[in-house]
Amino acid sequence: MQIDLHFHSNFSDGIYPPRELIKKAQANGAQLLALTDHDNIGGLEEAKTASAELGISFVNGVEISVTWGSKVIHVVGLNFDMNYQPLIKLIDEIRSVRLKRLALMSEKLEHIGINGLYEGALALASHPDTVGRRHMAEYLVNEGIVSSIQQAFNKYLGEGKKGFVKTEWGSLPEVVRLIVEAGGIAVLAHPLRYNLTLSKIRQFLDEFVLYGGQGIEVGCSSHDYNEIMTASLLAEQYNLFASSGSDFHGHEYDQRKIGVTPDLPTECRPIWTTFKNFN
Ligand code: AMP
Ligand code: MN
Ligand code: MN
Ligand code: MN
Repeated sequence: MQIDLHFHSNFSDGIYPPRELIKKAQANGAQLLALTDHDNIGGLEEAKTASAELGISFVNGVEISVTWGSKVIHVVGLNFDMNYQPLIKLIDEIRSVRLKRLALMSEKLEHIGINGLYEGALALASHPDTVGRRHMAEYLVNEGIVSSIQQAFNKYLGEGKKGFVKTEWGSLPEVVRLIVEAGGIAVLAHPLRYNLTLSKIRQFLDEFVLYGGQGIEVGCSSHDYNEIMTASLLAEQYNLFASSGSDFHGHEYDQRKIGVTPDLPTECRPIWTTFKNFN
């Protein structure tokens, strides 16, 4: 079965609206989907309706930004009640940080002679409060300030670079707790994309499991074969369900395909076995 439980619409830093994404995923053969916008559940209703119309299974999803010590970690929530008010409130609060961060980053770049980031990035985001670093990167490319998105991150937007501003996102215990309280399952996104040592990842997982986290992405399109095997081993050691996702945003430069994810190693317990009709 083809499954994709991690991708983005224009309700965060993806290009396509939810309905178009579901259509693309179906064209690629997907049968079970979750839309996981950054700090936003505004696209779920449209994605759910489109999935029902096309006969595809759909569960609610979100990718929440968490500040863990000096790092930003992404926690995906799956299959939660999207009307659970405390979770909605938390996601709204976390998302509200984005516009303030843009103002600060814009100011920082102005000091080194790069102007217009605030308006420029906002013009590229379909919803102002969802503005992210991909929009900022695209603005810098369009203005000819950098030659690629990658360069925009390497020079200006990446952690510790000239335009970077550290942000207080959600706290790990609260984010995990509210996903669980909403009946969902909390998943560590792309565990090998954080530049963390294996021992730091273990330290994170010790806490994550303590707070109620139950999943980890293993079949992640941005993981190579060795990373998939490492994530699978972590899943086994921490007794976590394994998830799969493309992290599709719609940009050509990512070379990701929506609805298409690497197979899980056979020793994994797939996270979808916890979903109704998939156990
Ligand atoms: P934000 O949540 O606004 O800080 O942006 C984080 C997002 O930026 C990630 O989810 C990715 O979509 C994107 N991103 C981070 N690093 C890179 C990179 N080096 N190249 C391209 N996109 C990146
Ligand atoms: Mn993103
Ligand atoms: Mn992420
Ligand atoms: Mn993502």
